[in-house]
Amino acid sequence: VHAGSGKYGKYGLGQELQPEWLSPGRSLGSGSFGECYKGTLRTDDGEEMAVVLKRVRARVAGAEEMHEAEHSINVLATKAAGDAVAPFLGYTLVESPVGRLTKGLWLVWEYEGDKTLAYYLKRRDLEKALAADLGVEEEEAVPMAMKQIFECLQALHSAGIVHRDIKPANIVFDERARRFRLIDLGAAACLKTGTNYKPGETILDPCYCPPEEYVLPTEAPNLADQGTRLRTVLTPLLWTQHSPDCFDTYSAGIVLMQLGLPFLRTTSSLRTFNGALARCNHDLEEWRARSGLPSRQTALLDANDGAGWDLAANLLRPRQIVNDDRGSVIFLNTGRAPRLTATGALKHPFLRAALRAAPAAAA
Ligand code: ADP
Ligand code: MG
Repeated sequence: VHAGSGKYGKYGLGQELQPEWLSPGRSLGSGSFGECYKGTLRTDDGEEMAVVLKRVRARVAGAEEMHEAEHSINVLATKAAGDAVAPFLGYTLVESPVGRLTKGLWLVWEYEGDKTLAYYLKRRDLEKALAADLGVEEEEAVPMAMKQIFECLQALHSAGIVHRDIKPANIVFDERARRFRLIDLGAAACLKTGTNYKPGETILDPCYCPPEEYVLPTEAPNLADQGTRLRTVLTPLLWTQHSPDCFDTYSAGIVLMQLGLPFLRTTSSLRTFNGALARCNHDLEEWRARSGLPSRQTALLDANDGAGWDLAANLLRPRQIVNDDRGSVIFLNTGRAPRLTATGALKHPFLRAALRAAPAAAA
C-alpha cells in the first residue's frame, strides 16, 4: 500500500474499506467527538500498513454529523492539499462488531508517527529534539517547524479550507518525510463548497481560538445554502473582505509563542496569557513591555533583532476588527495593519533561517 505516494494507493480516495481489513490497537486518546486508535490495515492480498482509526462516539450529540463532515473535508483536503494533511485512506461503517472494531463509523488515515508538536512541547530540550528530527541546526528548529506549519496552512487555505483547530496536538510529525503535517479536520470548514460551515457556529479550543471566534461574520450568507455558481462568486468576495484564513494564523501565532516561551507550555499559563493579551488590546508589544520577562526566557524570540516577537505580534493582532457598542467583536477594517496570512508569514524574516536550511528537511 502506497497511500502516501500521491496516488492514494490502489484504494482510491476516501473509499469504503472492509472492516475485516482493520484492527484497532492502542488508544491515541479520545477527544470530545470521537476515539482514536493506532491500528493496522491488512488487505486480502496480504498488504499491511500502520493506520489511525477514528470512531464516532455515539453519545455525543451532533458527533455523527461532524464525522460525516470530517469525511468530506478529508476528501477535499487530500485532493487539493495532499501534502499538508495526513493521507486519508477511507472509511468503514461497522454494523455489527468485528473483533475490536465496535459498531459505528470509522475513518482511516495513514499513521504518520508517534510525535505531535505537543510531544515536543513537553520536552525540556525542545529545540534539540526538534532539530534532530527535522535535520537542521538547533537555532533553525523552531523557524523550520513554523515554516512547515505555514506551508500546510497555505495549501489548505488556497483550497478554501480553514482548519479552525490548529494546536500542537493536531500537528503531527511525519517520520518518513521528516516534516510536520496537519491532522484532525473535524472542525475544518470548506468555504468553496460550504462543507462543515454554518455561520454562527463555533467549535473551538479557547486556548488557541482567535478573539473574533468566527471565520466569517455571523451575518454573512450561509455558503452551504447557495448554488455552486453563486458560491464561486461569493466565496472569493467574502475571502477578500474578511480573510477567514486568518482564523488559523492566529492559532499558529499562539503555537509560536509556546515554542518560543517555555513558561507558556501549560494550559493554565496559556489561559492567563490570553486574558492578559486581551487586556492589552491584542498588542503583543504592550504585553511584552508589561510582562518584564527576563531575557534568558526570550532568547528565541529575541534573536535576529526580535524577529520572533515581530512575527508573533503580527499573527496575534486583530484580524480587521473593532469592538462594536455591545462589546462584541465584529469584522470591520479599522485601518490598523491586519493579521498576517500564511503567505505573509512565509515571507517574514523569522522564517528566513529556515528557508536557508530548507533542502535538508524537504528531501
Ligand atoms: P480528536 O478529534 O480526538 O482530537 P485527532 O484526529 O486529533 O482526534 O487524533 C487524536 C490524536 O491521535 C492526535 O492528537 C495524534 O496524537 C494522533 N493521530 C491522529 N492522526 C494521526 C496520524 N495520521 N498519524 C499519527 N498520529 C495521529
Ligand atoms: Mg485533535
